[in-house]
Amino acid sequence: MVLAQLGGTITRAIRQMSKATIVDEKVLNQCLNDINRALLNADVQFQLVRNMQNNIKRIVNFDDLAAGHNKRRIIQQAIFNELCNMLDPGKPSFTPKKGRTSVIMFVGLQGSGKTTTCTKYAYYHQKKGWKPSLVCADTFRAGAFDQLKQNATKAKIPFYGSYTESDPVKIAVEGVETFKKENCDLIIVDTSGRHKQEATLFEEMRQVSEATKPDLIVFVMDSSIGQAAFDQALAFKQSVPVGAVIVTKMDGHAKGGGALSAVAATKSPVIFIGTGEHMDEFEVFDVKPFVSRLLGMGDLSGLMYKIHEVVPKDQQPELLQKLSEGNITLRIMYEHFQSIQKMGPIGKVCSMLPGFSSELMPKGREEEGQAKIKRYMTMMDSMTNEELDSANPKIMNESRSMRIARGSGCNVTEVMEMLEDYKGLAKIWSKMKGLKIPTRCDMNMR
Ligand code: GDP
Repeated sequence: MVLAQLGGTITRAIRQMSKATIVDEKVLNQCLNDINRALLNADVQFQLVRNMQNNIKRIVNFDDLAAGHNKRRIIQQAIFNELCNMLDPGKPSFTPKKGRTSVIMFVGLQGSGKTTTCTKYAYYHQKKGWKPSLVCADTFRAGAFDQLKQNATKAKIPFYGSYTESDPVKIAVEGVETFKKENCDLIIVDTSGRHKQEATLFEEMRQVSEATKPDLIVFVMDSSIGQAAFDQALAFKQSVPVGAVIVTKMDGHAKGGGALSAVAATKSPVIFIGTGEHMDEFEVFDVKPFVSRLLGMGDLSGLMYKIHEVVPKDQQPELLQKLSEGNITLRIMYEHFQSIQKMGPIGKVCSMLPGFSSELMPKGREEEGQAKIKRYMTMMDSMTNEELDSANPKIMNESRSMRIARGSGCNVTEVMEMLEDYKGLAKIWSKMKGLKIPTRCDMNMR
C-alpha cells in the first residue's frame, strides 16, 4: 500500500524538522513542501493539498507564538489534525441499528469491488448477530446476479434477484419489500456499475434510489484510480445523495491518496476499507487511528480489538496488564513478539502497535519485518534472565552484546540495533502506563 510510504515520508519530514536547532518559517516551509510532495505523489487532489498547507500556516503563526511555545509540538499536532480533517467530513454517516430495518444502497463503477463489498458488509454484520440480506438490482451486466448469489450462498445470507426481469427498479423494490416483511436488519441493494452511456447509469441509480428510499447510499471506490477519484466521486454525489464511502483494494499497490479526495468530493466519511478479495478482508475505518498508524504512532484501539479477537481468552488479561503497566523489559518484548506471531497477519497487528514504526516493521515489507522479529527473538534466547528482566537498558554493555552476538550467530551491530529498537519501544510503551483497556463490550461497538 503506497499510503504506507506516504506515512513514512511525512514522518521523516516531521523528524527532519525536529532535528533543526531553531524551528522557524524556513524550516516549517521545508517540512510542508516535503509533505505536499508526498501527498501529491499519493494522488491526493492538488487543491486539498494546498488547503492543508494554508491551514497549517495559519495555525502555526510564528509572529503570534510566544517564545515559550513548543513549536515542534504545535506543528506536529497541526499536521495530524489537518490529515484527520481531510479524511473527516465533519458529520458522521447514517449508522444502521440492529433490530431496525435499514436499506443501504451501494453505487460505484463496475470493477470497483461493489458486489464483493456488498457481501463483505453483510457478512461483517452477520458475524455480529445481525440479520442482513442482499438484493441484486444490476440487470445490465450479465452474470451480476450469479455473482451476488454465489457470494450470498457462501456466506448464508438471503438474497433476491431475477434472471428474467430487466427493470432494476422493479427488482429493487420487490427485494426491499420482501426483506422488510422478513424483518431483516439490513437490506443491501447492489446496483449496476456500467451502462452504454454514463447518463443512463446515473439516471438508473437515481430511479432505484427514489423507489427504494435508502437510509444510506454508499459509494464504493477502487483505491487504485488515483487522481480520477475526486471527479468520479463528485459525479456520483451529484446524481444521488451519497452518505458514505468504502475504499476497496487497499491491500494492493494503489497509491490510496485518492480516498482522501473522495471524502472531500462527497463530503462523506470513509466507513470501511477493503483489504483483500476474501469476505473477511474488510476493516472498519476510523480516522484518528488511521492517521496515527499512517504517521507511525500506532493504533491502540485497533490493537486492543485485535488482542480481544485473536489472543486466547485466558491469556488476554496478562498481556493487557503488562501493556498497561508500561514497564517494558526485554522479556516482555520477547513475549510480545510471541503473541504477535500468533495474531495472524503480522503487519496488520504490528502497524497498530505504537513504536512499530517503519524501521522495525516496514509497511508493505512485512516479511522482512517478520524475519527481523525472529532474529531478535534468537538474540534474546541467548540472554541471561538478569538481562531479560532488567528494565534498565544500561546493563547491556559491550561484553554482554558480544556474548549475545556469539550465542545467536549474529554480529554485534545487529545486537545493538535490536537494543536500540527495544529502547525505542520501551520509551513509547512507557507512555501507555495506566492505559484504559477497552472491554469486550466497547469492542463490539466498533
Ligand atoms: P463490481 O464490478 O464493482 O461489482 O466489482 P466486483 O465485486 O466484481 O470486484 C471486482 C474484482 O475486485 C474482483 O476480482 C474482486 O475479487 C476484487 N476485489 C474486490 N474488493 C477487493 C479488495 O478489497 N482487495 C482486492 N485485492 N480485490 C478486491
